[in-house]
Amino acid sequence: MKFEIVTIFPDFFRGPLDYGIVRRAREAGIIEILLHDLRAFTTDRHKTVDDRPFGGGEGMVLKPEPLFACAESLALAPREQRLSGEAKETVVLLSPQGALFTQGMAEELAALERIVLICGRYEGVDERVAEALADREISIGDYVLSGGELGAAVMVDTITRLMPGALGNEASARQESFSAQVKAGIDGPDSTCASGGLLDYPHYTRPAEFRGMPVPEVLVNGNHDEIRRWRRRKALEKTARNRPDLLERQPLSAEDKKFLAEIVEDKIAKEKMGREATRKT
Ligand code: SAM
Repeated sequence: MKFEIVTIFPDFFRGPLDYGIVRRAREAGIIEILLHDLRAFTTDRHKTVDDRPFGGGEGMVLKPEPLFACAESLALAPREQRLSGEAKETVVLLSPQGALFTQGMAEELAALERIVLICGRYEGVDERVAEALADREISIGDYVLSGGELGAAVMVDTITRLMPGALGNEASARQESFSAQVKAGIDGPDSTCASGGLLDYPHYTRPAEFRGMPVPEVLVNGNHDEIRRWRRRKALEKTARNRPDLLERQPLSAEDKKFLAEIVEDKIAKEKMGREATRKT
């Protein structure tokens, strides 16, 4: 996979992409990251990349000329071929107005061979870039950042984890939160529970007891079936508590539904006990 990042701050990426899995994936040749300094594609003495918005308003807007010139220097496949999927490459404009970046989208993008990430700045980017240059606009969340660089780093990291060989253990990526992929035969007793689109189950490591907090007994008893069921129940519990929207999108087994009913019953019982305790005081 080749990532190409278009930015006015190429130095921003010295750091976020130089550690851990992304660094190892670069060193192993699984991914390649090229940085393109937008200012190198300007034609004036001051290397101007921005200008005031037509119609008035706050701030400055990234000009279209350097962005188009930069993209044209990359010898990309024609936009129609990128949009139809004929070419395994895409041009992304990072934008808070874009489609929300999700694990599912990362999985889809990981199947490509080349991803160009355009980082906006200031009040944003001349709309003609979204209309005629980028294939898609992607947002990394419902908040406004100062620039697209953090978003580009988030996307590179997330997609790199999905590249074959990047994690060392092939099952790891499938077990993580949001991951919808479950492969029969691979997600065996050791993996105990692929997340199946839910949040991940809780993890514990040594010491078995820390400051009076013991590791749940079930995890040390060696019964893989019990561990699998406990992890699934915990994943459902956490998902119901923090991200109930995910439950609506995932196929749930009869066992899952039973767990969820028990979780609701437990919650009602705890609330009742809480009310009774308050009444007594
Ligand atoms: N005026 C824009 C708006 O309100 O939608 C915000 C522009 S923002 C200050 C500048 C740049 O940061 C954007 O062009 C985009 O590249 C990047 N950016 C900000 N928030 C982002 C997000 N949530 N996801 C991806 N990129 C973002």
